[in-house]
Amino acid sequence: MRTIVNTIILKGYDLTPIKSNILIDDGKIIEISDEVFEGEIIDGTGTMICPSFLNGHTHVGDSIIKDYGDGRSIEELVKPPDGLKHLALSNCDDDEIIFSMRNSMLDMIKTGTTHFIDYREGGLKGIKLLKKAADNLPVNPIILGRDPIFHNSQATEDEIRKITVKLLKNCDGIGLSGFSEVSDEVCKIVTEECNKRNKIPSIHVGEYSELQKNSLEEFGKTEIERSINLNFKLLIHSTYPTDDDLNLISENRKLVTLCPRSNGALNLGIPPFKKFITKKINALIGTDNIMLNSPNLMREMEYTLKVMRAYYKEYVDPKEILKMATVNGYETADNLNECNLNFYSTVNKTVIGEGNDAQLFLTKLISKNPYLNIINRVETNDIIAIVNKDKFLYLNDKK
Ligand SMILES: [Zn+2]
Repeated sequence: MRTIVNTIILKGYDLTPIKSNILIDDGKIIEISDEVFEGEIIDGTGTMICPSFLNGHTHVGDSIIKDYGDGRSIEELVKPPDGLKHLALSNCDDDEIIFSMRNSMLDMIKTGTTHFIDYREGGLKGIKLLKKAADNLPVNPIILGRDPIFHNSQATEDEIRKITVKLLKNCDGIGLSGFSEVSDEVCKIVTEECNKRNKIPSIHVGEYSELQKNSLEEFGKTEIERSINLNFKLLIHSTYPTDDDLNLISENRKLVTLCPRSNGALNLGIPPFKKFITKKINALIGTDNIMLNSPNLMREMEYTLKVMRAYYKEYVDPKEILKMATVNGYETADNLNECNLNFYSTVNKTVIGEGNDAQLFLTKLISKNPYLNIINRVETNDIIAIVNKDKFLYLNDKK
């Protein structure tokens, strides 16, 4: 039992800053009030508490090849099965891959992240390696698996279905590379089997404009529209949505993860954040491939906020950006009637409020603006402690 006293807390879905004390016991937030002083007392003067981050899209599997192939095109780099990334990874030992993935998860913890949604390649074995790497860390990987058979045009429907079911027994959903690499038949099997089991069917869509254009020419529909028709729940990128796409995403309440630094690193443009906010689509942000970016969401948020202001030449509220890394995922999951049980149970309770799971971090308050404090000021060694349910980990001294 611990009470952090006299700290600024970003409370509720609206991240309202309040100065108060917070009592945490057995992984739960028991009370937020000026009166509470129970158990171990932690003086929070000069600090703030933020919900821990949800990284909406990662590929931690490529942690071992950081900055490899910089300057190559996206197809040359990551397109399965023969992209540079896949060839490089096939030459690495399992132990090296586990070690580098574990280091990336430690980087996440040190920078305030307790949850991440990972596109895990390499079939069942890939899933097992990630679970091994995460063992005993205060971080929750939400694993979306994938098998090489999805890219094999010779594979039968039965074979694909069998492998999909087998993967889903071991992970939280399926993350597909994209419509250029998998057939609509594979997509149908994947979404059917995921939706049957309340797992997350997900796919990269509309990452660059040619993909959207080619899809329209060939199928009469954009990639985003196709992904919605095929009943995917989580769409990654959507960097080039049409207005109709945005309406469809909004009406169907799909989860979308934008990856601004990844789009920047690959010369692919800037996601139209403002349109997502105007349409009240609760987008998440993700750091994407670790070969391209560190999994530090504070870096992602600062890039996002400033690129957005530069791009639109107008004020953008930093709170909207912080929500993309924290409460947006929980709010969307909460709103989805048909919401994914795994996703819901893993992340929904992390909003700061009495009775909720304690999933938050305590950091120095360097600026008077708590949102910009997180986005502009906090460095790794300013985070004092991170809490993920029953795990309470001190990271740095307050002084
Ligand atoms: Zn990706």
